Amino acid sequence: MAANWKMFKTPAETKTFFASFLPLVKDTTGCEVAICAPFVDLPEAVSAAAGSAVMIGGQNLYWAKEGAFTGEISGPMLKALGCTWVIVGHSERRQYFGETDETVLRRTKAAMEAGLKVIVCVGELLSEREAGETEAVLRKQFEGGIAGLTAAEFAGIVIAYEPVWAIGTGKTATPEMAAEAHRVIRGLAAERFGGAEVRILYGGSVKPDNVKALMAQEEIDGALVGGASLDAASFAQIVNFAS
Ligand code: PEP
Repeated sequence: MAANWKMFKTPAETKTFFASFLPLVKDTTGCEVAICAPFVDLPEAVSAAAGSAVMIGGQNLYWAKEGAFTGEISGPMLKALGCTWVIVGHSERRQYFGETDETVLRRTKAAMEAGLKVIVCVGELLSEREAGETEAVLRKQFEGGIAGLTAAEFAGIVIAYEPVWAIGTGKTATPEMAAEAHRVIRGLAAERFGGAEVRILYGGSVKPDNVKALMAQEEIDGALVGGASLDAASFAQIVNFAS
């Protein structure tokens, strides 16, 4: 279960979150938990999560290790802070910051090289779904952004299927719709990487009251949670969905 805090929370708010959240998940088993926080919150998040099973991640990185790239953050920098994960290719980065399948691939490779695990996001727009293009879009994003990985690199990623129309809108894909898209992605992975297994998260308005139905689908291995991850009790309920 991964949290994407987007551009929310100060370091002080991060500290408060962890003080409430950690006791609620201290007995959780069978579920990896990662919190992907804004860059400025990462030191606080890493220090608050120390000694717990909760892992910390960034929400983006640049592919160079260092250099004259004002405003950017590299994989080695995230790693040095104590991050385990990083999100790459979130639809908000594709929509507002010019992320393309090609830059998704470059960032993913750079993250792996830095020793980070990567959550690579894919998903279609509403217009694409309505035009019956979901599968074609997933294929294009997979072929442009993931298929260029080596088998060893592929083993270090988790894919997040996030239909763009479901992100932050309160509209969730039905569990069947999500499972169908996950099957498509799994098929693409099998085509390119043979029998390699990959975990696929669903993202898009996951809340405590719909997580169980989504997770009941065999194809869905976890969730990438935006809005509902900002509240400690609500994200803890999602993490503890099985109990
Ligand atoms: C996200 O930010 O990846 C996301 C899925 O957001 P939300 O849960 O708010 O739809």
